[in-house]
Parts: sequence; structure tokens; C-alpha cells
Amino acid sequence: MTVRVRYAPSPTGNQHIGGVRTALINYLFAKSQGGKFILRLEDTDRTRYAPEYVQNLYDTFAWLGFYWDEGPDVGGPSAPYVQSERFDLYKKYAEDLVKMDKAYYCFCDAERIEKLRQEQIAEKKNEIGYDRHCRYLSEEERARNLAEGKAYVIRLKIPLEGVTTFHDHLLGWIEWKNEDISPDPILLKSDGFPTYHLANVIDDHLMNITHVMRAQEWIPSAPLHKIMYDAFGWEMPELCHLPMVLGQDGHKLSKRHGATAVNEFRKLGYLPEALINYIALLGCSYEDGRDIYSLEELVSLFKLEKLNKSPAVFDYQKLEWFNGQYIRQKSDEELAGLLRPYLIEAGIRAVDDPKADRIELAAMPLIKERLKFLSDAPPMMAYLYGRLELPAAETFIPKKADVSATVSLLGECAALLSKYGLEDIPFVEDRFRARAAEIGKKLGDLLMPLRVAITYTRVSPPLFESMKILGLEESLARIDAAILHLRGA
Ligand code: GLU
Ligand code: ZN
Repeated sequence: MTVRVRYAPSPTGNQHIGGVRTALINYLFAKSQGGKFILRLEDTDRTRYAPEYVQNLYDTFAWLGFYWDEGPDVGGPSAPYVQSERFDLYKKYAEDLVKMDKAYYCFCDAERIEKLRQEQIAEKKNEIGYDRHCRYLSEEERARNLAEGKAYVIRLKIPLEGVTTFHDHLLGWIEWKNEDISPDPILLKSDGFPTYHLANVIDDHLMNITHVMRAQEWIPSAPLHKIMYDAFGWEMPELCHLPMVLGQDGHKLSKRHGATAVNEFRKLGYLPEALINYIALLGCSYEDGRDIYSLEELVSLFKLEKLNKSPAVFDYQKLEWFNGQYIRQKSDEELAGLLRPYLIEAGIRAVDDPKADRIELAAMPLIKERLKFLSDAPPMMAYLYGRLELPAAETFIPKKADVSATVSLLGECAALLSKYGLEDIPFVEDRFRARAAEIGKKLGDLLMPLRVAITYTRVSPPLFESMKILGLEESLARIDAAILHLRGA
């Protein structure tokens, strides 16, 4: 049996961490089994559908860098993979269920359903739902309604008693009382559109899906699906409901906890490798004492048995850590290329800018260790491209010094740089150290005004290396500018 699994998103919102996790687990499982990973668009909810969400889906996975073997864009033996292109099929199967007496026409109009709902609310009934009125229509009534051309939906006959039992790979056998299943859910709407349940079951069957791996919130749908599989006489795929992803506070991960949409993470400067690595480890243990895995390694190590049953907690700090690790793994060229869009966006460099390219390549060793996110780069690097506004005088002045002492420290720095240049940084640093001792200052106090003159902040990437990138002339000019600024203060 070839493993065939699917990611079946509804394009009613942007891709978020939960969806990507579902997709990733499906992907890892398929690849680890030599099987196929399929993308199916469940776009039956036309009111919440928007084409942007489909685009967002494609953009997200193009960025993440793992793909389906079959899907709307790449085709495959079970095409079409978009449910709205399969509508005729669902209708036929729904009618088959009616013929087999497993489903029935319901002619209740919206008004009756609403009235029923109001009554149930007024009576404070526990269960609010359809009263199965049309399940018991006589043959004549049904024929008359149809002859009159009355609109109808098709509802599934949920057994009135007993239990429905199904197996979940992770959770074991689950027994569901039939009376707890929503009374006779709609399979086909009056406009001929299928509901999620109908389209999902038919497609999983026709696409030969072997394992259904999806979020745990879909468990209540499973008994209903089981009833449908049984009604059709089809074998149900193996189910595997994935534990929820929670925020640190134990509530379902949501905006309140931080970014959840993949494009937010992308904008913040996360690397796709970090996100994939972290998400793959969410609620899943591979080997002790090891965190960093490439996608290929994750594939080769993946086993369903490694999934925890309990919910996973999304730890933004841990993800940050992963991001830093992946940033540091990049070569200077790769990292510079990744930072470029952020620097362009911040207006720090032009798209075509050979001088900026050179600056960036030289700057990578200076900032690589300091970056947590790609988006940290623009503020951290801006001083390397051109002059910025000088900060207030206080920023330049070391403890126990005043403006004139600071000016004279800057004069010392200028003299040292003029004399020794920037070719041999360890050597120049030594000269600075020796000079600081001679004039009875701490090295830090000598360097502090220099750092502010060069980088405009007290905390910056390595100072001498920065000056080397700027060049001696520009470094001296910045010192002059700082002296003028302080004198004017
Ligand atoms: N279209 C459903 C969703 O949006 C698919 C659920 C399933 O995998 O069965 O998640
Ligand atoms: Zn009805």
C-alpha cells in the first residue's frame, strides 16, 4: 500500500502555524514512507473564500520550501484537486446515499430552521439542531415537494441509537454516542454545493488517501465521516488527529500570544528553515540533546510514534533561538542576500547598488552573531552606508568626563588612527590600549566617544572592523563631525 496523505486547507484565511504544522507532519510522514503528499483545496465555503488566501497558500509553501507531489498547480492522477471543480461529483454521491436510504431530502426552508432554533433557545434545550422533521416525511409528501420543485438539502441519517467507533492512530479507539452527533448534518446544500463533510469524505476516498492527519479539532467530525464511509461501503483511511498547539498560558495558540500567520513570521525576519525545524519538533521528540535538523534529516527520522499525545506548547523564545542558529549557519554571501530585501525596504540601499553589496559582504562577520531576526539588520547596519544624525552630547561623554575631556579623547583617537591606520586591527587596538594607559584612562572610556562618533550608538557591532569598512578617511571625518557637534553643544 502506497501511503497517500493530504493537506486540505480551506482558503478562508492566511496560512498560520497550525496549518503549516499539519502540512509538515503530512509531508514528513509521506516522505518517510516513500508515499505521496497531496494538496487539496477545500473551497466549498464560498462566503469566506477569497483568492488572496489561495495565493497566500502558494506563497507560504514556496517560501517554506516543501511541496506536494500532487495538487492544483502540479496536477496528478486524482485531478482536479480543487473541490469547486468537482461539484457534480458530490451531488451524484449524495443522491446515491439517498437512494440507499442513508440520507434524505430535507425541504425545510431557512424560516422554519430559524423558528426551530428560536424555540430551542427559548426552551433552553441542551441540543440545538435540526429536529429531523423531513426524515419522517411520507413518500407522498416527498414526491409532492419534489414535483412542486421545492428546494431541498440532503441530510445524512445519523443512527438514532448506539455508538460509532473509529480508530485513531494516536488516540486509539474512540467511541462516540450517536445521540451526541449533530442530528442529521447537511451533506448537500440547496444550491447544490457540498458541505465539508461530504466533499472531504468523497475526495479522501477517490484520491485513495490512506491516512488522514489533521488537527484535533476535527475529531467530532470523525464519527460522522465513519457513518458515511460505512454507508458507502468504503474503507475509512487511518485517522491520526494531531495534538493542539497551545500558547504558554495553555490556551489555543492565537494572535494574543504573538505572530501566528506565516507571513508575519516572514516579515519579522524568521528563516523558513528555523520555522520548519521548530514546528517539526513541536510535540514530537526525535533524539535527546539535539535540536537542529535539516528537512531531509526530519524526513529520515520521522515516525508517527514520535508524536506526543498531549498538546504542544509554542515557545516563541525557543523559535527565536532556532532562528539565530540558522542565521549563523549561513555563509556571508547567503546572509547578505537574505538581508538585502530588508535593507531595501528600510530605504538604506538601492536594489542595484554595488557599493552596498560590498559593504554588506564585509559586514556579515560583524553582525552574524548579533542577529536574532533578519529584520534586526537595518537599524544595526545603517551607519555603514552613510552618515546619520548625531546623538545628543551626553551619549558621547564617558562617566566622570565632560564635553571638553570628551573632545580631547576624540582628538586622541583621531591621532592614533592617523598614525597607525586600520590595516592591522589587533595592532591598532594595542596602540589604543597603550595610549589609554599613558593618559590614565580606561580603554573603554577612550573608545566610547569614538564608537558613538562612528556608529551613532553606544552599543554596536565591532568598532575597529566597522571603521575598516568605512575606510580611514570616512572614520576620521566622522570624528571631526562629532568634535564639531560637541563643541557646538
Ligand atoms: N478543510 C479542512 C480544514 O480547513 C480540512 C480538515 C481535514 O483535514 O479533514 O482544515
Ligand atoms: Zn427538513
